[in-house]
Amino acid sequence: YTAKTTRNAAVIFDEAALARQLEQNQLSIALVLAVDRDEFVVHYQPKVDLATGAHLGFEALVRWQHPKLGLLPPGRFLPLMEGTQLIRGMSRAVIATVGRDLCAWKTAGFRPGTISINLPEILLLDEEGYDMLAAAIRDNGLDWKDFAVEITEDVFLNRRAEQMFDTVARFRKHGVSVSLDDFGTGFASLVHLRDFPFDELKIDRSFVSGIGADPRSEQIVRAMIDLSRNLGKRCVAEGIETEEQRRFLLDCGCEIGQGYLFAKPQSTTLAGEYLTKKSSAPRRSAAECKPQR
Ligand code: C2E
Ligand code: MG
Ligand code: MG
Ligand code: MG
Repeated sequence: YTAKTTRNAAVIFDEAALARQLEQNQLSIALVLAVDRDEFVVHYQPKVDLATGAHLGFEALVRWQHPKLGLLPPGRFLPLMEGTQLIRGMSRAVIATVGRDLCAWKTAGFRPGTISINLPEILLLDEEGYDMLAAAIRDNGLDWKDFAVEITEDVFLNRRAEQMFDTVARFRKHGVSVSLDDFGTGFASLVHLRDFPFDELKIDRSFVSGIGADPRSEQIVRAMIDLSRNLGKRCVAEGIETEEQRRFLLDCGCEIGQGYLFAKPQSTTLAGEYLTKKSSAPRRSAAECKPQR
């Protein structure tokens, strides 16, 4: 009897797992076609001055416009791309889109500020990430300094981390700011913090959301801000949702942030409207960037 129950339970479990697996497989197959079908879109979330609310730049965040399922967040498809070459095609599409959008905004007289791109480690291991950005800059008449690069601390797990440091150093030589993203959630140690050549430390939302709710999170946030300031790095808090969190961060000495309190990630069109509101009057020559075709 027990054996039979166990067997039945096993069958039920297997069916659910199988259904999930089939769903993932279907997504994976569609993902292979997504680059060719140009289904990746980029949303932009403002980075703001926490004291004044002034606009400083955008973080570019990829979404997948799935033909049937609608707009999917990266959490739904990035894990499926891990360890595959698909992430290269997606990144190329994202960087090309950002280049075009940035050029259009500048041509319209806006001041979009610096655009941060999330670069996966696979693109730091060879020349490709560097070349993609160089191409976007060349094709749209942009400047290296228009860009920032965000790298998650997981890159330190890679045995070839040294190689990535070289790529990072090349970016920085051009004046591209390098951020350490999701700090405190992965495997970065203080050794990495000491030796890794970066400009900005991003405090992960999981700590920021504890402000006002969890005293231990507050202490950790305070310590991270002190640490980055003492190391001479810029500090950016992500996922700010309440006025209390903004106040706390500012009081601790963190001057830059992102979060729903200010703006959600938004489409190119809406981000453009956001810029219109922020910089009421278009300024300077419309020829600030000249596409080279
Ligand atoms: P991330 O780089 O740490 O980006 C911050 C995430 O927090 C974004 O999620 C953003 O939408 C979300 N967020 C920002 N403010 C708030 C807030 O106030 N409340 C809440 N609840 N969430 C907030 P998203 O867009 O789903 O991206 C998730 C992750 O996917 C990113 O984390 C990044 O690691 C990765 N990712 C996004 N775009 C790209 C890309 O183009 N290339 C690569 N390689 N990875 C990307
Ligand atoms: Mg990021
Ligand atoms: Mg982050
Ligand atoms: Mg994060």
